[in-house]
Amino acid sequence: MTAMVLERPREPLRQVQVPVPAPGPTHLLIKVRACGVCRTDLHIVDGELTEPKLPLIPGHEIVGTVAEAGAQTRGFAVGDRVGVPWLGHTDGTCRYCRRGQENLCDNPLFTGYTVDGGYAEYTVADHRFCFHMPEDRPHADQAPLLCAGLIGYRTYRMAGPHVEHLGIYGFGAAAHIVAQIAVHEEKKVYAFTRPGDTGAQAFARRLGAVWAGDSGETPPQRLDAALIFAPVGALIPAALEASDKGAAIVSGGIHMSDIPSFPYRLLWEERVLRSVANLTRADGEQLLALAPQVPVRAAVHTMPLAEANEALAKLRDGHVEGALVLAMPGDPQHP
Ligand SMILES: [Zn+2]
Ligand SMILES: [Zn+2]
Repeated sequence: MTAMVLERPREPLRQVQVPVPAPGPTHLLIKVRACGVCRTDLHIVDGELTEPKLPLIPGHEIVGTVAEAGAQTRGFAVGDRVGVPWLGHTDGTCRYCRRGQENLCDNPLFTGYTVDGGYAEYTVADHRFCFHMPEDRPHADQAPLLCAGLIGYRTYRMAGPHVEHLGIYGFGAAAHIVAQIAVHEEKKVYAFTRPGDTGAQAFARRLGAVWAGDSGETPPQRLDAALIFAPVGALIPAALEASDKGAAIVSGGIHMSDIPSFPYRLLWEERVLRSVANLTRADGEQLLALAPQVPVRAAVHTMPLAEANEALAKLRDGHVEGALVLAMPGDPQHP
């Protein structure tokens, strides 16, 4: 099969021919139809996440069909449509798993980071961490739900229950999905982009944001919560400055530049600063149930698998409206 492979960080992926992987007893062999390109992939390729399996097939927003099911799998049949997210495996026994925080598992595997992912024609995945996907949407349109949507949704929920005015910093793949959910739940969304990015600001307004502006601007209303999706540490004090008493500032990314020091008065009055790590399977079940009700419509730009390096470069430059997805050769929906 054709795969795009990371051999060493900070080098381009190489297009190579490798054997189709053999599924273990608990694995599904999946014919990949579409795989999203996530900022985390960029952090891996750029060497900012330092523990990848090498060589590595990146990609953790996988939508495909079951080609073969291992002998111990349950609930999946050949031909079923499945989604594979970032969380690829947990031990199920550590103290975090036992208390319902499998996203913090001590012995996890992550798709497209510590196990091979979806920048390839086939992949294998532990069936216990795969999701059934509805058949009524194109594969590529569903791919961004599996990380941008999922982590974005977890980040959004961590903002707490009392949010009327919601700030979103960094209006990329995660933000554009979360904004649709927030508007559906009658929140007022304030979108913050890199200074001067009027295209992203217009995009946010089209998705229902009541205000959109530069990340350094003061919004017309103090924020009850802010979600930070851009990997820029300086946005933390900026969001605190724009926030109201009791606000939560939630960072959804896996990597961020250093946070500048800031005066305690910005955190005072019970403001909360927290990060979100990974996902639980329950997050996935909840989001996939909610998405059709909104309905979430990802803005997707597809590129061929062979252009994975170009897709990563586009993401690095920040010139993407919505989400980038690699469409696989032979996908009948994206020939
Ligand atoms: Zn565990
Ligand atoms: Zn991701």
